[in-house]
Amino acid sequence: MTKKLYIETVGCQMNVLDSELVVGSLRRHGFELAHEIDTADVILFNTCSVRQHAEDKIYSALGTLRGHKRRYPEKIIGVLGCMAQKDQELIRRRAPHVDIICGTGQLARLPELIAEVERTGKLQLALSLDRTESRHEVERSFESYDPLRDPSMRPNRFQAYVRIMIGCDKFCTYCIVPSVRGPEQSRHPEYIAAEVRQLADEGCKEITLLGQTVNSYKYEQGDGRRLRLSDLLDRIHGTSGIKRIKFITNFPRDMDDDLLDAVRDLPKVCPYLHVPAQSGCDDILRRMKRQYTADYYRDMLARCRERVPGVAISSDFIVGFCGETEESFERTCHLVREGGFKNSFIFKYSPRPGTKGHEHYPDDVPEEVKKRRNNDLLAIQNKVSLADHRRKVGERVEVLVEGPSKTALKADWSGPLQLTGRTMSDHIVVFEGNERLTGHLVQADIEEATAFTLFGRVVTREYDGVESASGASGEESVAQLGQRQRIQLPLVSGAP
Ligand code: SAM
Ligand code: SF4
Repeated sequence: MTKKLYIETVGCQMNVLDSELVVGSLRRHGFELAHEIDTADVILFNTCSVRQHAEDKIYSALGTLRGHKRRYPEKIIGVLGCMAQKDQELIRRRAPHVDIICGTGQLARLPELIAEVERTGKLQLALSLDRTESRHEVERSFESYDPLRDPSMRPNRFQAYVRIMIGCDKFCTYCIVPSVRGPEQSRHPEYIAAEVRQLADEGCKEITLLGQTVNSYKYEQGDGRRLRLSDLLDRIHGTSGIKRIKFITNFPRDMDDDLLDAVRDLPKVCPYLHVPAQSGCDDILRRMKRQYTADYYRDMLARCRERVPGVAISSDFIVGFCGETEESFERTCHLVREGGFKNSFIFKYSPRPGTKGHEHYPDDVPEEVKKRRNNDLLAIQNKVSLADHRRKVGERVEVLVEGPSKTALKADWSGPLQLTGRTMSDHIVVFEGNERLTGHLVQADIEEATAFTLFGRVVTREYDGVESASGASGEESVAQLGQRQRIQLPLVSGAP
């Protein structure tokens, strides 16, 4: 009999990808997805440890399942990912009804762990070594988990993440990632290229290469040559069917000119760089062990813009890190004011036991101050984003249509259908259109802008539906959407 699996995912794109892979693997072991906890035989939480808030959400969800497990003891509950790797003892204490605790580097073992719980009824632990052991052993204990892909698990089949490396070796003092995701290890370029080929064959048009510091990618080939991200982009650029290639997240110190040249010269590579700054104050950057100064970061921004004209850049900032004074915060505000970022993600510092920051520096910025700085910085970034977005008004852009906009999905929405999609530079565009444009690339003229969204009109042209419907290209297939002989049709390319 088919068993039902419910999975809830918290956290970053890596976790979203891990969940896709877990579901793909469990489907091959006879599982089917359940959309509600009540109907599931196996309930999994793929967790995040980057901030306390993400952990609290999981403990609260586990708490509400205590009664459920008492009523249905045969149901299996699993905690996967970063929290599992970091806090196995705490999970056992706070949620003794959990059956599986499985770290980020052990997810390939899930089918076996579930079978073992079914057989023995006993708690199953699968964790990688902590980073105090020898590097080689720790590396081996963090398995790169990239089995066959399962398109049905993605929000849509025309966009996909592809992992090009696991782990991180930067050890920023606030960050738990190097502990819970292990040492930095780059994947074999041939495996990556094969996965991209497979995704393209399944109809994928846009891939996003993932790594904690994706621009640090390096793979030593047998002939002694070291392959870097620029080489990898060049290698996969020729994959037919793939129209767009993105990569996240970049480390400022590793933003080499050859990578920027690849972004400029390879037409499918999106001119969009996410390069977190974290702070604009040198003292704080030193405490964070970010390995650069604010001026180094500014020079890097200038270099990106000089080598890749028109590139869009986004950033991350942490406010309220240990020792952050009003003066240091003002330096961060200054960097955001002048940085010209398309957008920034702003976080309040959350101390993480197990990090150097937590060990060495007191969390001395009161919560109220963190909140205020968060709001102030957001307000500054919103002004900068609005200015960036306004510069786009009047431009004609290519949009990959992702589907109905959030507004259009609201129950009380009664206006014409609004679609949303993104430009090559990762700007969000909203426009009116037929839902069947989802997955197509359309041209849109930008007419209005807010700090978060561009509003546009799809470019149409007089089109002879009957004549063109006989062809096989994506443009013709969209022509078939029109029933009349002459019709205004969106300019599109590529069938979904
Ligand atoms: N590897 C990426 C990088 O280096 O930027 C992303 C890592 S982390 C999952 C994403 C963002 O979370 C970071 O850029 C940082 O701004 C934020 N972050 C990490 N640790 C944090 C902490 N302890 N408190 C608040 N924000 C944190
Ligand atoms: Fe965390 Fe720093 Fe590594 Fe990013 S580079 S994952 S912030 S340790």
